[in-house]
Amino acid sequence: MSAPAFQTTCLPSGQIVPTLGQGTWFMGDRSDLKAEEIRALRRGIDLGMTLIDTAEMYGNGAAETLVGTAIQHCRDDVFLVSKVLPSHAHLEGTIAACEASLKRLRTDRIDLYLLHWRGHVSIVETIDAFNQLVDAGKILHWGVSNLAQNDMQELVNVPGGSAVQTNQVLYNLSRRGIEFDLLPWCRQRNMPIMAYSPVEQGRLLTHPTLSALANSYQATPAQVALAWLLRQDGIIAIPKAGKQNHVEDNHRALDLALSDDDLAMLDHIFPPPTAPAPLEVL
Ligand code: NAP
Repeated sequence: MSAPAFQTTCLPSGQIVPTLGQGTWFMGDRSDLKAEEIRALRRGIDLGMTLIDTAEMYGNGAAETLVGTAIQHCRDDVFLVSKVLPSHAHLEGTIAACEASLKRLRTDRIDLYLLHWRGHVSIVETIDAFNQLVDAGKILHWGVSNLAQNDMQELVNVPGGSAVQTNQVLYNLSRRGIEFDLLPWCRQRNMPIMAYSPVEQGRLLTHPTLSALANSYQATPAQVALAWLLRQDGIIAIPKAGKQNHVEDNHRALDLALSDDDLAMLDHIFPPPTAPAPLEVL
């Protein structure tokens, strides 16, 4: 990683990754926005937000193609995350999907390859495919996304399942369900959670409490929402920002420390869970 002194966390493998990365859902969909999206991703990389999350699903490969262009000059500085669709997650399908992603990404390896969500294919078969891809050097690590705590327990109980590196799930101030069971379970295993939709796809940014709090810190609602996530150990946040000024805004969340009083106030407005609930997804 080229960026010095950036807030990082450690995957179970020992791999160090930045806690603030960049999402790419809906990038590459509109030709009139592509150049700005590439500039935004590159600006994020320059600022140290070198973990980039994408998926074969996003725009049917359009996001991966855009990421491939954005990182051509700096591939080795980037920690690249992509995902296989559950409908492709059988042995041959996973390998073929990965090879197609590598082609679109114009790289020889994906740093972290995730099962996008659990489908009908046996997780044992998907792990077999992941292991073959690791042996071939096409992926360096694997993980999952959208798995509830009972699915994670099942995963680590199957042969090879304990090599899982992360679970990418919906987590933000307004979606705190994982704090009841999944998050403590992952923390016990020193496995970071990757928090997707960290600003609730923009919906949190107009919340009056966040706006007022942001004003009091001379910050923005996005910075408050991200700082709330980033203050916690073992959380990687991956906001998607297709505009450079949004990327710069998000980066400044790393400098924002919310006071204990303000955290308590946020707990009052966005209460933590008091009982288990089904995993929320977007
Ligand atoms: P998000 O990051 O919570 O929100 C993205 C939206 O917020 C965009 O409209 C963006 O606008 C806006 N935004 C970001 N920073 C901003 C700022 N500082 N000021 C104002 N607006 C700002 O939602 P998301 O894209 O759903 O989630 C993030 C990433 O997580 C995705 O891109 C994807 O990589 C991943 N994800 C994974 C799953 C999964 O199932 N595994 C599901 C959802 C998402 P602009 O683009 O105009 O800058």
